[in-house]
Amino acid sequence: MKTLRHKIQIQGIVQGVGFRPFVYRLARECHLGGFVNNNSNGVLIEVEGVEDRLLTFRSRLHREAPPLSKIIDCTIEVIQPERQNEFRIEQSHKTARSAVMIAPDISVCDDCLRELFSPEDRRHRYPFINCTNCGPRYTIVEGIPYDRPLTSMKIFSLCAACSEEYHDPGNRRFHAQPNACPDCGPKLRLLDNSGNVVTTDDPIEAAVSLLKSGKIGALRGIGGFHLAVDAHNSLAVRELRQRKGRAEKPFALMALDLAAVENYCTVSKTEAEVLSGPTRPIVLLRSKNTPTLAPEVVPRNRYLGFMLPYTPFHYLLLKDNFAALVMTSGNYSEEPIVIGNEEALARLKSLADFFLLHDREILQRCDDSVVRVAGSQLQFTRRSRGYVPTPVLLASATNKPILACGGELKNSIAISRDNAVFMSQHIGDLDNPATLDFFQNSIEHLQNILEIKPDFIAHDLHPEYLSTKWAIEQNELPTVAVQHHHAHLAAVMAENQIDATTIGLILDGTGYGIDGTIWGGEVLIGDFRSFERFAWLQPLPLPGGSAAIQQPWRMAVSALYHAYGEEIVELNLPFMAGLKQDRLNMILQMIDKQVNSPLTSSCGRLFDAISALLAIRTEINYEAQAAIELEMAIDESVRESYFNLVSAGKLHGALAVKSLIRCVVDDLQNNVPVGTISARFHRTLAEVFVQAAVAARSKCGVNRVGLSGGVFQNQYFFLHIKKLLAEEGFELLTHKQVPANDGGLALGQIVVANASIQ
Ligand code: ZN
Ligand code: ZN
Ligand code: FE
Repeated sequence: MKTLRHKIQIQGIVQGVGFRPFVYRLARECHLGGFVNNNSNGVLIEVEGVEDRLLTFRSRLHREAPPLSKIIDCTIEVIQPERQNEFRIEQSHKTARSAVMIAPDISVCDDCLRELFSPEDRRHRYPFINCTNCGPRYTIVEGIPYDRPLTSMKIFSLCAACSEEYHDPGNRRFHAQPNACPDCGPKLRLLDNSGNVVTTDDPIEAAVSLLKSGKIGALRGIGGFHLAVDAHNSLAVRELRQRKGRAEKPFALMALDLAAVENYCTVSKTEAEVLSGPTRPIVLLRSKNTPTLAPEVVPRNRYLGFMLPYTPFHYLLLKDNFAALVMTSGNYSEEPIVIGNEEALARLKSLADFFLLHDREILQRCDDSVVRVAGSQLQFTRRSRGYVPTPVLLASATNKPILACGGELKNSIAISRDNAVFMSQHIGDLDNPATLDFFQNSIEHLQNILEIKPDFIAHDLHPEYLSTKWAIEQNELPTVAVQHHHAHLAAVMAENQIDATTIGLILDGTGYGIDGTIWGGEVLIGDFRSFERFAWLQPLPLPGGSAAIQQPWRMAVSALYHAYGEEIVELNLPFMAGLKQDRLNMILQMIDKQVNSPLTSSCGRLFDAISALLAIRTEINYEAQAAIELEMAIDESVRESYFNLVSAGKLHGALAVKSLIRCVVDDLQNNVPVGTISARFHRTLAEVFVQAAVAARSKCGVNRVGLSGGVFQNQYFFLHIKKLLAEEGFELLTHKQVPANDGGLALGQIVVANASIQ
């Protein structure tokens, strides 16, 4: 057989992740000659041998690539053979670094875990054990190239044993930048609430005893601090809620392994894979209502957010000690997660009884990611640790590098280079100065480590968003304003690599419309360049503006007033009976006189109104609580909807919601159970939008529907509308790589801005 030589250039996350030793082993196993080295584009391989061996090599190259690596592009060129029988790792060429990517932080691997628990290993019970295939990356990097002096490991010099591993291509710690051991690496320290060091041989065991006695611990991790308590201890969980100022928003949990999680939740095969995969997100799982779990962990919710341990430290903490721990972000309500030791001692002092600190600095704050599995599909609620900075790939390259500033809530920014869009970690709500700082730092840092200088800045159309204001203040760069729901539609198209006209069902809380009203229940027809607002929910007054978001009862009054006019006062409803006369009058006057009552077509606000009407939630203490609890109230055995709402009305323009509200009221007056009403409401609303999509299809001849916006985090609604759209024969685009909520907005802003500057 003829000998061939292939030149293979690989781009992606392939440096500092054990890629070259892997290629070396593979080439030798396949009996190929040649070499591998790092170059400015990633990794360059030349292999030579007979054709079937080359084919095996190439397929195994993709199949067996190291866990931290991600091949984004692979080009192959056939070149002249050089009669080379040996395979070697070549010295790296000076990298121009421009296309090199840093890996996300990855859960401790099985090899390291075996060492962690093996008494004869020199790293037995060492909480910072890691290797080329696992450990922190993104969060310990201050710049590129990704090399120890540009990470927070720079203050630790490798001992002789660690250094030998680091320099041996055959060792699984070859060029593992965070490599360390008890002799030369980071260490744990236990401090009491006053910041005094507690003398102990084993800070972890001491922390375990404190947690067992119901204390609240501030634990420094990979991307920030966690506040931890024993999840079986009601008193401790209640205490944590009180101190944190977090009344009811669910807490995340951590358990040792799948079997432990299954004590509390049903776990499907896909969910098990996601839970135990190397990115270790928090996975929202159906609760079994296990009585031993403190009910305060997740009040009034059918789902629990569980993650498995992802650092060696977590394993040492949980193993043989706790069935489950609450592990919530170390911060006050909506501030960014705390990362520094000093910062923790100052800001978490009133929250934690003790501190478990370490001296490996966290340079990039990165919260735990939150996902769920809908059907068999992964959906992000928050895309952060484990996923950032892995890029989202577009079908075609952007012309110029673009920075997108995202929205106002659940902010995340993005930067593009060619066909890669780098989304930042979850930044949060930009309404406090600390988060705004984090926003600016993230923009700087991402530009830095990617060596991208954007030529344009994309931002939301809303003039009052702090992200918009920041964008406009950057005088030297041209800016492009992108309508909020257009960005949502573009985001779901972009991540599905579609750049052609699509019908968008874009349902969320609020976004600034091009007519100056607040949008949020939109049927759009558009592409990256432009869009048409085909249909929308009948706009209702939002009495009190943002106050109405905190107090859904205001929206309920608005909805009733819309549906019944003056007759609202005669309605015989528990909701009306519970409403003080002066409050009712105040709202009605605001609406009549159009005082601070902007019109909104928001779908989220309609959920709020119904939730309040059903007396499920009239005031909220965390975002979207009213809608979430309305979903949780659903009787899942219900199969009917109210009626074909729109069959009598029009299917474009403002979609009437009057009859929907009236149906809900009729049911209430007939003492229909709340669970039935909630289900009927969800199903009817889904039908309304599907019919509007059908009408849009007749108009534009496009059979593709994209779903985006925070409302699609509602599982019942999402799965039902997905089923109805499939029955109508639509091709469906949904979010799988970025959140459907505003956390995915920046992706859409990038592609819309790119289209507008072409
Ligand atoms: Zn490892
Ligand atoms: Zn060492
Ligand atoms: Fe939105």
